Amino acid sequence: MAWQDYVRVTSVEEALQQLDTFDGEGRIIAGGTDLILQLRSGEKKARCLIDISCVESLCHIREKEGRILIGACATHSEISLSPIIAAKAPVLSEACSQVGSPQIRNIGTVGGNIVNAQPAADSVIALMALDAVCQIESSGDDKVRPINQLFLGPGVSDVDSTREILTEIAFDALGPSEGSAFYRLARRKGATLPTLNCAVCLSWNREKRRIERIRIAMGPVGPVPTRLYETEKVLTSDTFSDSLMDEALMTAYREANPRSSLRSGKEYRQEMTKVILRRALLRALRSAGCENGESQEKDH
Ligand SMILES: Cc1cc2nc3c(=O)[nH]c(=O)nc-3n(C[C@H](O)[C@H](O)[C@H](O)COP(=O)(O)OP(=O)(O)OC[C@H]3O[C@@H](n4cnc5c(N)ncnc54)[C@H](O)[C@@H]3O)c2cc1C
Repeated sequence: MAWQDYVRVTSVEEALQQLDTFDGEGRIIAGGTDLILQLRSGEKKARCLIDISCVESLCHIREKEGRILIGACATHSEISLSPIIAAKAPVLSEACSQVGSPQIRNIGTVGGNIVNAQPAADSVIALMALDAVCQIESSGDDKVRPINQLFLGPGVSDVDSTREILTEIAFDALGPSEGSAFYRLARRKGATLPTLNCAVCLSWNREKRRIERIRIAMGPVGPVPTRLYETEKVLTSDTFSDSLMDEALMTAYREANPRSSLRSGKEYRQEMTKVILRRALLRALRSAGCENGESQEKDH
């Protein structure tokens, strides 16, 4: 593990200065729930750990002009208990409330969850369905990137935590005709990443009885957190019906490309994509005011 220095900073500027000083050998640490294990195993290296967990400007959760803004150091507990998130992005409350265990939720941060880039990271799957963007700062320049462009492979993100800091995550608050749901399949006693998870955000047109817009994210059904774009197209192509639902579930089954891992086999995961998508979709429809969603859910 062998880092030699540990610096606790109180501002983003100070953190960037420290990253510059260590010139690629310093690394950002927030809750440390992923990083400490990776340093122990030798998967990651650092001469100095730069602790940003006490930077106040990275811990906010607020709404501004219809946008929800979350500091990268907000913990899963803080997000899941936030009244703003419960009212304006319940899909994210649901996701964060199911991460690991109370201890992990109390120190693990949303920023760490994103930068760590696991294909089924719970908050990431919800943020993909919310179409979030991420603000990334470095001493060179600052940039805003859509979250779905940040993932390069399993455990590899396009945020270089030896030189850059993810500072804020932003997305539109959900409106009255919009609904959302998060569904997670996991071992009953496992405090770990899920076997499969799915987040849905949609906009329901009551008069036309159709889904106007939808975003579906699922993990782990590919090397990175995945949007099911083909399935989304099917669901917005016609008025909502049982046959449209069946077509969408089959499309998701084909679109998902899970692999076998310690937590589950490929075939089981592939089959279950239909089950968790159906459940998440019906709950999202119901929360958007579609009565059909409710009756279909009772029927199955
Ligand atoms: C027992 C256990 C159970 C878990 N269960 C789940 C689960 O159910 N679901 C789930 O999704 N995850 C789970 N995790 C994973 C983990 O808790 C999350 O990924 C957590 O959100 C990581 O945040 P952190 O603050 O601890 O990150 P850290 O460990 O501090 O950092 C992780 C990585 O991100 C970088 N980093 C952190 N913050 C920033 C930033 N702001 N800017 C730039 N780089 C940054 C670090 O350098 C490091 O590379 C579990 C972990 C454990 C140990």
